[in-house]
Amino acid sequence: MGIIRAKNLIYNYIKRDEEDKIEEINEAVKDVTLDIEEGEFVAVLGHNGSGKSTLAKHMNALLLPSEGTIWIGGRDTKAEEALLEVRQTAGMVFQNPDNQIIASVVEEDVGFGPENMGVPTDEIWRRVDECLQAVGMSAYREVSPNRLSGGQKQRVAIAGVMAMEPKCIVLDEPTAMLDPNGRREVIRTVRELNKKKGITVILITHYMEEVIHADRIYVMDEGAIALEGTPEEIFSRVEELKNFRLDVPQVTELAYNLRKKGIPLSPCILDIQDFVRELAEFRKQRVSL
Ligand code: ADP
Ligand code: MG
Repeated sequence: MGIIRAKNLIYNYIKRDEEDKIEEINEAVKDVTLDIEEGEFVAVLGHNGSGKSTLAKHMNALLLPSEGTIWIGGRDTKAEEALLEVRQTAGMVFQNPDNQIIASVVEEDVGFGPENMGVPTDEIWRRVDECLQAVGMSAYREVSPNRLSGGQKQRVAIAGVMAMEPKCIVLDEPTAMLDPNGRREVIRTVRELNKKKGITVILITHYMEEVIHADRIYVMDEGAIALEGTPEEIFSRVEELKNFRLDVPQVTELAYNLRKKGIPLSPCILDIQDFVRELAEFRKQRVSL
């Protein structure tokens, strides 16, 4: 059984009036079934309002299902006594790094989680060293987080979650507030955590270019899982992705149309350089025939 597993998960936001009568029901997650293995890098892609954050909040028991079940590390999140274990298994990183940084010095911020968990002091410092190194922020350990860029802050936030040694990290649009450089830093860091440390990663995003290295992608639309597959499988369904209001880069669509005409380009082309390189390769082969 996977480290994160959901079966027929439904979540409704319920709005009530002053007399506690139900005024409105918003079905944010509709019948989601998924299974994520330990060590996998899974991306969840979807347009704004498709239910990604609501689903993510179930992975850490910040929300409990209206119907259906979600198990984290084999524990049903509805069981009250499982709460601590669930939160320890799956750490969360959110969109805005400013809301996640608490201490006035980087190293204290990273040590805050394990300290709260009652980890002995020596072990806290060992983890702080290791985690800052893993996110490439060791040189900043005595700096005030206020002086860091958005990407650096987000990497400190990731180190802070890592220091609690979760098996799994759920990142809910961690790059949404960052510039392109910051976005690259964060995605690179997350990939390394997955590859080198074997941490299971669930990366939630609406940027297609961030999911290309995932082992598997779930595409959400209107609260449901609309597509599931490897990046190659997902990227070869350009028309459907557009129907789910995802921005398909122009060059991906062009490559997709050329592939349909029989030109052997790879399905995951996202930038113009790759496109030009592959097309040049194809021409070279044709000329030499
Ligand atoms: P995403 O993260 O993909 O943008 P969300 O999970 O935030 O999607 O939202 C899914 C749906 O639930 C949307 O229709 C949104 O308006 C609604 N929603 C989200 N949070 C709340 C809330 N606290 N109360 C009521 N409705 C909400
Ligand atoms: Mg969201």
